[in-house]
Amino acid sequence: MLTKQDYEKYSSLALEYLEKAGIVITETEKKNVEVAEYELGCIEKVGLELVVYVNTEKCCAKELVLLPGQTCPEHRHPAIGGEDGKEETFRCRYGKVYLYVEGEETENRQTNPPEGMEEYFTCKKEIVLNPGEQYTIMPNTLHWFRAGDCGAIVSEFSTKSRDEYDIYTDPRIIAAGARQV
Ligand code: ZN
Repeated sequence: MLTKQDYEKYSSLALEYLEKAGIVITETEKKNVEVAEYELGCIEKVGLELVVYVNTEKCCAKELVLLPGQTCPEHRHPAIGGEDGKEETFRCRYGKVYLYVEGEETENRQTNPPEGMEEYFTCKKEIVLNPGEQYTIMPNTLHWFRAGDCGAIVSEFSTKSRDEYDIYTDPRIIAAGARQV
C-alpha cells in the first residue's frame, strides 16, 4: 500500500518531470495525479505516475511519467464481451523509453527487466522510443516498458481504458487494484 507521504513524494516528482518537459496540465489535474505501485512495494523499480485527461466510451488519453529506470509491469488488454481489448499508441515526449512487446526476440537488448522479477517479463522484442517517436500496440498483445536513466514521459492515446480487466503476467498483481496503461 502506498502511504500518503509516498503518494505526495511521487506525485510531486511526476509534476517536476512534466514541467521539465513543458507539458502543461491544470491545477485540478495536478491534484489528481495517479501513482501506481501495483501493491508490490517497490515503486522505484515497478511503478508509474499518470494523469488521465480523457476516458470516454471511444477513446482515452494520458500522460505517463516514469522515473529513471522505473518499469511498468507486463500486461495485456483482452477482449471484453465481444469487444476488442484496448489498442494503445505510446508517443515519447521526454527522455527515453524501452518498450517490449510479444514477437521476435531482439538481440543485445539495451535494458533488462527489474532484477529478480525476470520471470514476469517475458516479452523480448525491443522498441526504443526517443522524443517524438511512437509505437502502436494492438489489443491483447503482451507489453511492458521501462524508462532510461533520465526518466521518461509518454503520451498514451488509446481506445477505452478498462483497468479492471487487464491481465498481468505477475500473478501478485491484481488488475482491479492497479492502474493499467
Ligand atoms: Zn497497456
